[in-house]
Amino acid sequence: MDMTINRQKATGGASGYLTIDLGALRENYLMLQAKAPQSVTSAVVKADAYGLGADMVAPVLYGAGCRHFFVAHIDEAISLRLRLAGDAAIFVLNGLQPGNEASCAAMNITPVINSLEQLAQWAMHAKVLDKPLPAALQIDTGMSRLGMAPQEIETLKTSPDLLDRIDITFIMSHLACADEPDHTANGAQLSVMRRAAEMFPNTPVCFANSGGIFLGADYHNAIMRPGIALYGGAPSAVRPNPMTPVVRLDVAVVQTRSVPADTLVGYGGSLRTKGETRLATIAAGYADGLPRSLSNRGAAYFQGVRLPIAGRVSMDSISLDISALPEGTLRHGSLVQLIGPDQSLEDIAEDAGTIAYEILTGLGQRYRRTYLQPGALAQTGDTTDADE
Ligand SMILES: *Cc1c(COP(=O)(O)O)cnc(C)c1O
Repeated sequence: MDMTINRQKATGGASGYLTIDLGALRENYLMLQAKAPQSVTSAVVKADAYGLGADMVAPVLYGAGCRHFFVAHIDEAISLRLRLAGDAAIFVLNGLQPGNEASCAAMNITPVINSLEQLAQWAMHAKVLDKPLPAALQIDTGMSRLGMAPQEIETLKTSPDLLDRIDITFIMSHLACADEPDHTANGAQLSVMRRAAEMFPNTPVCFANSGGIFLGADYHNAIMRPGIALYGGAPSAVRPNPMTPVVRLDVAVVQTRSVPADTLVGYGGSLRTKGETRLATIAAGYADGLPRSLSNRGAAYFQGVRLPIAGRVSMDSISLDISALPEGTLRHGSLVQLIGPDQSLEDIAEDAGTIAYEILTGLGQRYRRTYLQPGALAQTGDTTDADE
């Protein structure tokens, strides 16, 4: 996206504007695919594509060549199925909940099988339908979250009938520390995965999340499974972020005021002004995914100037100390930047004591959303911006 779009003028009267650059999304997908041309790049679009709108995001990825999509819940899979062509494979990471067998089979949704119990359940349904059913098998290589322990996989040897009617699309596992390239858990998980893969000769392996893709070719395997990097988030906690930003967030000023020294600001009076202070109240708060932990810590930006958050974050508003700006610069209706060229997703996440994933997935539905289409000139979609 042309992240320099002029967003400082009030436009359209919304409280906040979330701009999602689908061209940058596409670019990120192609960049990851180019890093490992021998591998297939899938896309994790769970949690409504990390909050950005799976309905908008998934078709763009499909257009870029993606044919494997991962969600967490069956209901996400069902709505995605209706949105994507039949040759798109959809996988449910949380696996097969009891009662989902028929909808999975009927809608061509592939469960990620996480336990022997789920495998038995799926095998039973295949028997009922008297036809083979596809499944991805997840192996727990060291995260202790989802998937079968390698020992459980061993027991499959003694009850091979469990796999009689199951077509294993791929075996998969998930890295716990992929964003820390030097963490010893990465290599340890890779060795466990390799040993498990020996039990499934000629079966594709799906292993790397965003961070894993940047750990080197050993981690790429047949299918890669990025999420956050597609959406512009950093795949590594320690290296510079090579991805193109996808999200920009601007919030409107609803009121400005000047207060004398010794004035309390916000709930709980957690800030007492030291001197005369100019404040702006902006129209987004923790209900809009700006965590309360940003209280007296985070900031917004206007024309490159840092405007610290003053006092506690409220549900629908936040006060900013705008004393650093010349008087009259910021007015009712001006837009300040929360995520954009001056403050990355990682920056705001760090101030909030969390990670980019949580910020993205929390942004919510109250912002006016603009989707920039791939290949389109940067434009905001609202007419008042057209003459800028
Ligand atoms: C969420 C998730 C991913 C994507 O991880 P990123 O770090 O966002 O790339 C991949 N695999 C599994 C199993 C996941 O739960």
